[in-house]
Amino acid sequence: MINNVQIIETSEFTNNLTRDELISILEDNSCNEVLYKAADRVRKKYMGDEVHLRGLIEFSNICKRNCMYCGLRSENKNIKRYRLMPDEIIELARKGTEYGYKTFVLQSGEDEFYTVEKMKYIISSIKKMNVAVTISIGEKSFEEYKAYREVGADRYLIRIETTDKNLYDTMDPKMSHENRKNCLRDLKTLGYEVGSGSLVGLPNQTIESMADDILFFKEIGADMIGIGPFIPNGDTPLKNAKGGEFDLSLKVMALTRILLKDINIPATTAMETLNKNGRVIALQSGANVVMPNITEGEYRKLYALYPGKICVNDTPSHCRGCITGKITSIGRFVSKTKGYRDKSKNVLT
Ligand code: SAH
Ligand code: SF4
Repeated sequence: MINNVQIIETSEFTNNLTRDELISILEDNSCNEVLYKAADRVRKKYMGDEVHLRGLIEFSNICKRNCMYCGLRSENKNIKRYRLMPDEIIELARKGTEYGYKTFVLQSGEDEFYTVEKMKYIISSIKKMNVAVTISIGEKSFEEYKAYREVGADRYLIRIETTDKNLYDTMDPKMSHENRKNCLRDLKTLGYEVGSGSLVGLPNQTIESMADDILFFKEIGADMIGIGPFIPNGDTPLKNAKGGEFDLSLKVMALTRILLKDINIPATTAMETLNKNGRVIALQSGANVVMPNITEGEYRKLYALYPGKICVNDTPSHCRGCITGKITSIGRFVSKTKGYRDKSKNVLT
């Protein structure tokens, strides 16, 4: 009888797994180390040893949405809200270039203060610094995504969170799973490098649906996939939920690497919240990207999607040194390019 170890070892070369095989591997913890090592070899073969750093700017924790799992949800009254002015965001990016970042990720809640005009101003100003710009501000119209793209936005991150429509509907009140999928489609049409991803360990989330998540990432032709455990937040309706497990999150990530061999996969901050060496372990199990926080001061703490967020008292300069140390300690190196998936775009950086 073929066992999961053999299935994993074959998949390393075919980059293919059926839904049943994915489920069987996700359920079987005796093959975890074999899986992590196989994913690491796929990463090395297709992405090499370079690690791309993306400087993360969390520019507003104000959100009109009410996702059950998230500390920024509009009904959470226990959080002090903030928003950075456009010129403050641009200044954070400018400082980030001094630390050597070649890509910035601008992330926020869905905050209507940032009109299309304001976003265009922010994006075009940062693009003048000869860097790549990733936006992660939620569900917008085709026209808005088009406007950001026209002023130079390169990438967009919007996680599907789960492909289980019924689960999504209970997690994201008043939001439409169909619309989230449409956003991904629109972004692809507009020529963005598209990032998505999922949460692992939501209440009532099944292993079958996690297998579907991985197959969905392949189906949409994602350029980047971020996977992290769901971490219950005491200020949300899911405060008493069990939350996601580190190993299961790592397995979903490693399987994603095997199936989507040449995409960018970050070692997510949420992984490090559950395991103090989480990002290094993720980098050795298929990941090739890290997104160090370059938000400054009190805002780091206030951007509280989930509790136990790492590095909230650190400075951007400290984070840069710390992560570089971790990367070199495992025989990898920090990339000097902008880290496009299409490597032909990486010349002349
Ligand atoms: N508002 C935007 C971007 C900010 S939220 C959006 O929703 O797309 C960024 C990500 O944080 C979400 O996609 C979600 O996967 C993650 N997140 C939110 N709450 C979380 C929690 N409790 N545990 C782990 N990740 C969480
Ligand atoms: Fe808002 Fe994003 Fe949090 Fe949902 S996950 S409440 S959209 S910040």
